[in-house]
Amino acid sequence: MAPEGPARIVALAGGVGAARFLSGLVRAAPPERLTVIVNTGDDREFYGVHVSPDVDIVTYTLAGCVDRTRGYGLEGDTSHVIEALGALGHETWFRLGDRDFAHCHHRSLRLAAGAGLGEIADELRRALGVTSRILVMSEDPCPTIVELADGRRVHFEEYLARDGAPDEVTGVDLSAAATARPGPGVLDAIGTADVIVFCPSNPIVSIGPILEVPGLRKALRDAAAPVVAISPIIGGAPVKGPADRLLRGLGIEVSARGVAGLYRDVASGYVLDRRDAEQTAEIEALGLKARSVETLMRTPEIARSLAETVLDLARALE
Ligand code: GDP
Ligand code: CA
Repeated sequence: MAPEGPARIVALAGGVGAARFLSGLVRAAPPERLTVIVNTGDDREFYGVHVSPDVDIVTYTLAGCVDRTRGYGLEGDTSHVIEALGALGHETWFRLGDRDFAHCHHRSLRLAAGAGLGEIADELRRALGVTSRILVMSEDPCPTIVELADGRRVHFEEYLARDGAPDEVTGVDLSAAATARPGPGVLDAIGTADVIVFCPSNPIVSIGPILEVPGLRKALRDAAAPVVAISPIIGGAPVKGPADRLLRGLGIEVSARGVAGLYRDVASGYVLDRRDAEQTAEIEALGLKARSVETLMRTPEIARSLAETVLDLARALE
């Protein structure tokens, strides 16, 4: 007899925040039931290879081989390649370990041979023993560009990893995603899902690009499954990363409620942190059924309990 619970779970994901949650979700439900649709807005070529930062973080985390301290890269990886490149005068602000480099090199070789990004993501997750499906939001180039007060337009990884996420954000350009085609399997996964979850990812540069891909918002609105989002903001601040600077730059309140406002037209449920419980009524007034629980995922058990709350709320929305 199949275990209870939804047969098909679809999660929209960025990188580290998403991966933390997903490691709890695969403890709350069988991993084979999970399909993850991952942001590729952060993709960029580094050192001559195609890096998909969020796809790799999700893959490595579900494979149990992520570097837990950093939340990205492979546990115990070495950095001979970028050290040698640095010695030859190359910029090395984007940290990429040696085995990580090999995976990205594989991606580039396969792209050159005519394979698609989605097919390659599938090869990598299978090679690492991940039984959940990992889909790319799109196989087309979708660079997320951050616009700064001094007029500069920089790729998101340049903004974050090279420049240290400065404050002076005036806009985020998702126009590449807005003209991209959905990745293989994406619309079908949403259409046949029993539950859809927005991971506690950066709403502007992780979930934002996925929602921007033509057809995605409509597929989510038309989906038979309930859509439950999780707040990445706790007590008016992100747990980690530049979500506060990006939200502020776009004139959006840095709060659970501010993020709920971004999702109200596509989601029907919302899980916020217990520290923000006083915003529950306001979020429900936006049309989202809301629950407040512990969402600071200090341990896999907390992540699992958060995943159980999400599945429970989804059941109540059916
Ligand atoms: P990135 O692509 O690596 O930046 O990762 P994501 O976009 O998936 O996640 C970044 C977001 O995750 C940030 O806005 C964080 O606030 C959020 N986040 C990280 N850890 C936690 C956590 O334990 N709980 C909650 N609620 N949010 C978290
Ligand atoms: Ca990312």
